[in-house]
Amino acid sequence: MDFLLSEEQQAYVASVRAFAREHVAPGILERDRAGRWDQDVWEKVAGFGLAGLPLPTEYGGSGADVLTTGLALEALAYGGMDAGLNLSLGAHLTIGAMPIALHGTEEQKQRWLPRMATGASIGAFAITEPDAGSDTAGMKTSARREGDTFVLNGTKTFITNGSLADVVTVVARTDPDAPAGNAFTAFLVETDSPGFEVSKELKKLGNRTSPTVELSFTDVAVPESAILGDEGTALWAVGFECFDWERCCMIASAVGGMQRGLDDSIRYAKQREAFGKPIATFGAIQHKLAQMAIRLENARLLQRQAAWLKDNGHEHQMQASMAKAYVGEAAVESALDAIQLHGGWGYIDEFHVERGLRDAKLATIGGGTTEIQEMVISRLLLA
Ligand SMILES: Cc1cc2nc3c(=O)[nH]c(=O)nc-3n(C[C@H](O)[C@H](O)[C@H](O)COP(=O)(O)OP(=O)(O)OC[C@H]3O[C@@H](n4cnc5c(N)ncnc54)[C@H](O)[C@@H]3O)c2cc1C
Repeated sequence: MDFLLSEEQQAYVASVRAFAREHVAPGILERDRAGRWDQDVWEKVAGFGLAGLPLPTEYGGSGADVLTTGLALEALAYGGMDAGLNLSLGAHLTIGAMPIALHGTEEQKQRWLPRMATGASIGAFAITEPDAGSDTAGMKTSARREGDTFVLNGTKTFITNGSLADVVTVVARTDPDAPAGNAFTAFLVETDSPGFEVSKELKKLGNRTSPTVELSFTDVAVPESAILGDEGTALWAVGFECFDWERCCMIASAVGGMQRGLDDSIRYAKQREAFGKPIATFGAIQHKLAQMAIRLENARLLQRQAAWLKDNGHEHQMQASMAKAYVGEAAVESALDAIQLHGGWGYIDEFHVERGLRDAKLATIGGGTTEIQEMVISRLLLA
């Protein structure tokens, strides 16, 4: 067993960090305050090769494994400090492009993957609805077959990149009577289709540089060839794959945020003086730093273990849910510690730890809440 990154992996991590420090971090405070997506930053990220990282090389990607993709997300989050950008990139890769790579027909892959790999097209996945999030089987969006066409009606919400995408993978009910496992189908819906509308832009607590929107579908007609995967199997095929990538890989962004919070806190603790000495000399501060470091190490190990198990074809549902649940909760706890350690300055947005807390909270909700991960883990334990 080898817990060390190879020299090649270490060099790659260092290069992503350096890139992010130079091209992503500048201006993050203003972008966050304005809640602004920055297309220039995206193009730089894509130009650096991150938009196609895990996509197959024959479609313009780099063919990176889950572990390497996670390393890149972690390094980007650390160096760039732009969690919204990480959210958009992570969604683009793990729930936008990869499901097409894994379940698409040759025609679908040829059409979408090369432009996703260059970042010219940004991926999005829409399963959540206003009244159905954790309970995916409660989705109401319908796709009615009319000959060779399906007609979609309904609303999706909280969709990352929904206002940027050329194509959105939409999960809709195709059989009103079938059990959940056979009732839902995924469709590649082009966003210039008549009846497709970005019906609301949502303002949110953190990750503000990433657009989150509500999408409405009013008699949106899509051809049968737009089905992604097999008809009726969306929940356990495309949907499962999306959640799996989010849990094993995308969560690495939060690990990068934790490392950033810890490093900022160490630096501040050494510089800030109280009662005539650096606050780093106080036991209470040292204990906080130690707990942050322990959480970071646990979070990183769990995420990388899940990624490694997935890469090597091992069963990993329990470890993926453990990684997702632990990283999310640990990231929030450590972000709170970082603020406390910074005192009043921790509460002011000029110090990045304030944003760090707002950003970290999403990791306990998106891609399946902590409670849902605990449900998955306990189901497996009790089976
Ligand atoms: C910024 C952001 C980006 C997102 N991006 C996307 C995206 O790109 N595509 C997409 O489809 N979705 C996206 N989501 C949606 C996200 O995946 C859901 O918000 C999440 O799955 C929770 O669903 P919900 O919000 O409906 O909460 P609910 O399911 O209504 O849950 C509410 C509360 O009840 C708890 N709960 C629910 N069921 C149980 C249970 N059985 N046992 C115990 N507790 C339970 C939950 O844990 C939670 O605490 C995004 C969300 C956010 C906030």
